[in-house]
Parts: sequence; C-alpha cells; structure tokens
Amino acid sequence: MRRIGLVIYLFLAIQAVSAEELRPVIFVHGLGGSGGQFESQALRFTSNGYPAEYIKVFEYDTITWGLVMETDLALSGLSSVLGINLTKLLDEKIINKILEEPREEVMAKVFGRLDRLIDETLAESGADKVDLVGHSMGTFLLMEYVKSSPERASKVAHLILLDGIWGVDAPEGIPTLAIFGNLKSLPALEFPEGREVHGATNVYFNNMTHVQLCTAAPTFAEMYKFINGVKPDTTDILHQSGEYVKVKGKFVAFATNAKVSGWLRVYPIDENGKRLRWFPVKIIRLWDGSFEMTLKKGQRYEFVLIKDFNYMVYHYYRAPFVRDDLWVRFLASTPPADVELLITPERLSPNAKNAVGLLLVRYKEMLGEYDVDIGGVDEVYVNGINICTAKICPISKAVNGLWVFDRFADGKSNLEKKVLRFSPLPFMSAADLFVPADGVVKLTVKSRSGGMESFTVPAWPASRHSVIVQFSDTI
Ligand code: MG
Repeated sequence: MRRIGLVIYLFLAIQAVSAEELRPVIFVHGLGGSGGQFESQALRFTSNGYPAEYIKVFEYDTITWGLVMETDLALSGLSSVLGINLTKLLDEKIINKILEEPREEVMAKVFGRLDRLIDETLAESGADKVDLVGHSMGTFLLMEYVKSSPERASKVAHLILLDGIWGVDAPEGIPTLAIFGNLKSLPALEFPEGREVHGATNVYFNNMTHVQLCTAAPTFAEMYKFINGVKPDTTDILHQSGEYVKVKGKFVAFATNAKVSGWLRVYPIDENGKRLRWFPVKIIRLWDGSFEMTLKKGQRYEFVLIKDFNYMVYHYYRAPFVRDDLWVRFLASTPPADVELLITPERLSPNAKNAVGLLLVRYKEMLGEYDVDIGGVDEVYVNGINICTAKICPISKAVNGLWVFDRFADGKSNLEKKVLRFSPLPFMSAADLFVPADGVVKLTVKSRSGGMESFTVPAWPASRHSVIVQFSDTI
C-alpha cells in the first residue's frame, strides 16, 4: 500500500498538472502580428503536456482594427503612432473605405469569429472555460471582448495581457495577469511610467523588448504558473521522440492576415542551403494559405512560395522542427499593406540580377542600440558584416523585420545612412547592403542573450527572388 502511495506521489510530482485539468489557451496577437508570435509559447505548452489542439491562435486584420479603434487607443493613452504609422503605406482612399464601416460592425464581426473559435475549442476539448492571452493591440481587443457581455466573460478562466493595455480595471470575476516589458521598445510616444492593470497581478520584465516579452521563456513561466498554480516542468522546447514531426501552418499577409493563395514547394536542404533533391518533397496548393505536412525532425528545409498572379519566387528558411508544430506562420506582403512596394524600384532595376534581397525576421527585437536595462546588443552578420547597428536597429524601432537590399541598385552599401522610406513603419527597418548574387549568403545572429544561430542560403538574385529568413526567438 505504501509503495502504491509512493508511486502515486511520484506520478503527481512528475505530472504537475494532469491533462484533464488543463484548459485550452487562445492567443490574440498585436498590430502587424499573427499567430507567429505564439509559436514558441505553444511549443513550450506542449512540452509541458498540453495537447497540441489545446493551443489556438486567433488572427484578425490589424490595419482595420487599428484604424477603427484608434480613438479608443488614444484615449487609453496609447499613442496613435502605434496604430497609425502602418497606414502611411496606405492610400487615403483605402483608409477612407476602411473607415466607412461602422466601428460596431467591425467589432461585431471580429468578436463573432472569436466567439466561434472559443465555442469550437470548448466543444472539442470538453473544458469548462478557456484561458485568453493577448499581446499589445490584442490586449485592447481582449479587454473589449470580455467586457462586452457576461456570457463571453463566463467562458474565460484567466486573462493574460502581454505588454499592452494599462490604466484600466481588470474584468470582474476573471483572474488577470498583466506583464510589461521595457517601455522604450514600444514604438509609441508619450507613455506614462508605472503601467498597471488595476486588480490584476502585474509583473515587470524591464530587461525585455516588446515582442521578445511575448515569445520569451520567462513570460511562459509566469503564464503557466498563473493559469495552473504551479511552475511548469520546463521552459525549454523539448525534442520529440521519433523521426517525423507534424507541421501545420499558414502563409499570412503582413498586418492584415488576409489569405495568401498560390503554391508551396518544400525541399530538404543541406547546411549550405543547397537542395538535396531536384524535385520537391511536398507540393501543396495554397487556397487560403494553410498547409499541413509531415517532415523529418531536425532536417533543414527550404519553403518556396509562388503566389498566384505574381512572377516572384519567395524562398523561406527557418530552424529545423524538433516537435509537432501547428503554429507555423510565413509572412507574405499583399495589398493594402504591401510593404514590398518599398523595395520595388530596386527590384525593377536592370541591376537587380546582381544583388540579393533579404528579409530577416525574428520575434525578439534585433537590437543594435545598447540599453542599460536590457544589457546587451544583438549582432546580425550578413557575409561577415554586422547590420544590426544602433542606427539601423535602435530600441525605439523594435525591429522584428529587417530588410537587406541594395538601395538605388548601385552595387554599393551604405550602413551609415538610414533608409528613410522605412522610417515611419514600426517593427521594421532596412539596411542598404550590396550582397552579390553569387554563390551563397552567410547569415549569423549573435544574440544579446548569448546564443548564436547561423544560416547559409543560396544567393538568389533580387530580380525574381526574395529570401526570407526567420531567426529563432528562443536564441
Ligand atoms: Mg546601394
């Protein structure tokens, strides 16, 4: 009897929370965001025994939401800089068209979709309630949502607000956790110090930037503890046993999360980015951007996107998968937030065939400016040249997307000069670097957290090709 007791005790000690007690977690991203900012956290939840189906992401058009809700954001003290600078890309006609739709209708549509996701998730899991996590603009959305009706609030067990709304009361009856990062990394003006959500558990990570806070391991530990009352077994993303992993995800349009239709081809590649086979291992028709496949664990792949009605070839690279991953997001650029238009003049130049155009993405700001609270800078090397400088990647710019291209298609680099056309846009920056379209491009990140990650990719010419490399936010 004593032995059985010991066995049960050990079992409980190992399994901090049994699967039946877990509730589904639904993530809502911020401006310009997608489910991609929750990928690492989702993998940490499953590393701690959460079934993969329990982790969901809710995506919406952040341009429409940002424009329509702007008044509220401003009232809450969030500067319009956060919401509105993205729209400098947009034509005034498009903005006016978006604003024609009444605010109540925009909210009703978005909330209706969120209602459906929550109801489906509850039905599938059999859970009594869900836990909601919002980041940045997503925290404003969630606060509006839970306060919009008692029925909606009754389905929410915990509310978690990551580096977003403050100065408001936590919703009555819903335990709320608010975590705040370093203020300087929010690309907005006029932030008051001492942010808090009244009646919530407020936690401060002053050593973290805005998107880093959403994807980081310490944030996961806080979330897990708040939801489950105990510490997680691990904050690592554990390698799964077996040879294969299930990979599910979506190509999404930057900032609007609109569908991306086209074709996806997947090639296994070697350490130098060279295709191991002439023929792709997967060819998938993308109707709404979604894909699902089985891949080899630990193998490097190239994901090639051919969009419908577009002559460009997009080559995506990212770290190998180590466990089932149902939250993969590849960003594409489509109207109305077609950021790629900013580099189109160079792409159309006859010299474009001589240079490589890259977009480097990391959901942990690439920080080139030293800040005493954060205590370190990132170095991002392209063929041995560090482009993550204080000028290109200042803390206030919160650079999650770094464009590398030969400005003016003149065969010359100039890292001293800001690429002004990217200046109004939050979360992204650009470096004028001439990368010869010859051989390979070597990319290395030396992270401010101490880690290092490298990619070698073919030097595809910018005239027809775009290279998108996603660095890991865990490094
Ligand atoms: Mg140049």
